[in-house]
Amino acid sequence: MRDLQFDNRFVRELPADPEAGRNVRQVHGACYSRVEPTPVRAARLLAWSSEVADLLGLEESDILAPGFAEVFGGNALLPGMEPYAACYGGHQFGNWAGQLGDGRAITLGETINAHGQRWELQLKGAGPTPYSRRADGRAVLRSSIREFICSEAMHHLGVPTTRALSLVGTGEDVIRDMFYDGHARPEPGAIVCRVAPSFIRFGSFEIFAARGEEPLLQQLIDFTIDRDFPELVHAEPDPGQRRVRWFEEVCRRTALMVAHWMRVGFVHGVMNTDNMSILGLTIDYGPYGWIDDFDPDWTPNTTDASGRRYRFGNQPHIAHWNLWQLANAIHPVVQDSAALERGLAIYAQTQEAEYRRMMQAKLGLAQWRPGEAGDDALLARLLRLLKAGEVDMTIFFRRLADIDPAVPTLDLLEDAFYDPARRAAVEPELLGWLREHGARVCAEALPAGPRQAGMNRANPLYVARNYLAQQAIDAAEAGDLSELQALHDVLRRPYDEQPGCERFAARRPEWARNRAGCSMLSCSS
Ligand code: AMP
Ligand code: MG
Repeated sequence: MRDLQFDNRFVRELPADPEAGRNVRQVHGACYSRVEPTPVRAARLLAWSSEVADLLGLEESDILAPGFAEVFGGNALLPGMEPYAACYGGHQFGNWAGQLGDGRAITLGETINAHGQRWELQLKGAGPTPYSRRADGRAVLRSSIREFICSEAMHHLGVPTTRALSLVGTGEDVIRDMFYDGHARPEPGAIVCRVAPSFIRFGSFEIFAARGEEPLLQQLIDFTIDRDFPELVHAEPDPGQRRVRWFEEVCRRTALMVAHWMRVGFVHGVMNTDNMSILGLTIDYGPYGWIDDFDPDWTPNTTDASGRRYRFGNQPHIAHWNLWQLANAIHPVVQDSAALERGLAIYAQTQEAEYRRMMQAKLGLAQWRPGEAGDDALLARLLRLLKAGEVDMTIFFRRLADIDPAVPTLDLLEDAFYDPARRAAVEPELLGWLREHGARVCAEALPAGPRQAGMNRANPLYVARNYLAQQAIDAAEAGDLSELQALHDVLRRPYDEQPGCERFAARRPEWARNRAGCSMLSCSS
């Protein structure tokens, strides 16, 4: 395959761990450890994203060349690649967890495309690193498919996210105990090549703050601003003020990302601070899930089942908590508590404003009526009914555009309900809500065509529902990749009706209600 251009600023400008080798260790005074992927037995390309290939300047012939699976399966390096694993820490489930780091992710390098854009290439599941702790550095096919499918789906939904170039099978088994209940079994292994301008996380800063390594903390902050936020360098000549502006920008981006999650019904599942991108990208797709029946209390992550810290409706709050940890971490360098508090306030304001803007679009309203009897109340009433009636979130919002506002009925919502009794309990009130909403829409007198088109741009028809991903996984584990391809394909245009793809827009079937992988996931991946 063709050579890529690399400009590896992270390894060039930041201090490296002087120790070599993969032995597990605490790494002090360094941002990363040099480590190469561990070769695999039989690297085989299982899926790839043509859009990400385009971003990198790769053509189909490059991807399909035999060398591609070797490089992106961890068996070979291209000229210019300088692999490393990053050192970072994090708060897991609300507690400081110390050093974590890339335990199974290995960055290959920062490639520069023809437009001068920087894209970091990172293999997930490429073997042990000094940060692997007690684990094996590998990833199973099911979780790799989930990361590949969902990160691309999120991009096409317009949600800020890391991307995925490729999914490569390793030809090796990995032993996993999916629910940590003593039932370990071998599963096929795989490697995803993730792509993003940067994989720096909140935890990348927290680790140096926790260790009192302030010069390094400052170096990483200034490096991040310089490499990943160049617009701030031009806009703000004073380095102190620039760091404040930077934190505000991180707050803004995080707010936008979370508002999008709430718009499309995405539950991250493990919003630990090591899983929060400094660029405000959705990162680390693990036990995430998609809302089928609308339930703000739902979490897909069985590891979080007792506390439900990362439940759908709690995500805006947790992002704020995580930013607060970041503010604490950078405080020794910024040294301006009031400025950091202003940043956190910017998060709250932006999150609320963006959420409202998106919900307004979802509801097809031209204006958001303020006040007690305004649209906040209208929305709250709807969300309560969707939950009480066990109504499918995606189907409800998508169909809302097609319901006649002058004479609303529930006819178009026939397949949005999961439970006849719960449906019967809310039907009268839901019809009342539709009438109120219809009256609002009629009073605004937007022409139906543009109003419906606007709603359809905010309300996806196809999302990476958990059971759909699981069906693709079941087929792929049996050697059939067609389901994965079909799902990947339909999720490229999530807002467009695609004839013949109706089954990808269907509500969760009953068999999937309590099935592993469909409603219950764990961190074991
Ligand atoms: P996560 O919950 O996936 O964000 O992972 C938390 C930490 O555990 C990170 O430092 C990961 O790199 C590490 N980790 C997760 N799975 C593995 C694995 N199979 N081998 C090595 N490290 C892992
Ligand atoms: Mg992680």
